[in-house]
Amino acid sequence: MEKRSKIALITGGSRGLGKNMALAVAKNGLDVLITYNANQQAADEVVAEIKSMGQNAAAFQLDTSDISNFAAFVSTISAYLLEETGSSKIDYLVNNAGTALYAPVSDTTPEQMDAIFNIHFKGVFFLTQQLLPLINDGGGIVNISSGLTRIAMPGSSVYGSMKAAVETLTRYLAKELGSRKIRANVIAPGAIATDFGGGRVRDNEEINAQIASVTALGRVGLPDDIGGVVAFLCSDEAFWVNAQRIEVSGGQAI
Ligand code: NDP
Repeated sequence: MEKRSKIALITGGSRGLGKNMALAVAKNGLDVLITYNANQQAADEVVAEIKSMGQNAAAFQLDTSDISNFAAFVSTISAYLLEETGSSKIDYLVNNAGTALYAPVSDTTPEQMDAIFNIHFKGVFFLTQQLLPLINDGGGIVNISSGLTRIAMPGSSVYGSMKAAVETLTRYLAKELGSRKIRANVIAPGAIATDFGGGRVRDNEEINAQIASVTALGRVGLPDDIGGVVAFLCSDEAFWVNAQRIEVSGGQAI
């Protein structure tokens, strides 16, 4: 009988780091569900690329900043998985979707804080909660934080604080889910050249050069620097890695 591929669900898999994670996880032999917020075409292209690699994939729309969407989303993917695999279970959840905020403490508005809280903490918390029944025992959760929980960069107080909350949440998840042999870890990328924040790390020469100059490996990060590490965590080889914050930054600001 054909062995069933394990399945990873990656939020924000249409672009940037999430796309790279989806491709890396598929390269490791997993099937992949990705979510996107607005860019269905980009998500469909990721699905097509994964299918061309011989793994199954599907994309679903989900605004992870609005928890009122989550029950319907869980029903939709449960029905899809049941139809495709005979079971509504997944093995790995990667909470990656996110947006940027650059605002000094003196200028930050309550609305800006709410937006970042909703997408980077409240959404991560309740999506994980609602997906817990779907995650197979022995599976794993990977949350995406940021180097900015360690490095205080002016303008990133709210963003860095919400990511710090996710790091603490991850240790609680590891503790509470250990009885189900579900691991929870955090990847904290350094500055990576993606569309994030208007593409500033990739497209702003000054910022790009400044980050490269304080990074031991001498350049900013690229999506390819991240996906393989997430794919490793979504594997049995990483079973004994639990409750860890793994910074993947090329040695930024050490
Ligand atoms: P990108 O801007 O390149 O991609 C963002 C992804 O998140 C897209 O797939 C996008 O979907 C999705 N997304 C955006 N808003 C929402 C929403 N409201 N609901 C659901 N999905 C949404 O960002 P990155 O790939 O660079 O960032 C991914 C993660 O990595 C984020 O959590 C970010 O905080 C973190 N990170 C990024 C760093 C960097 O320097 N790039 C450094 C450290 C951490 P769509 O295509 O449909 O818009």
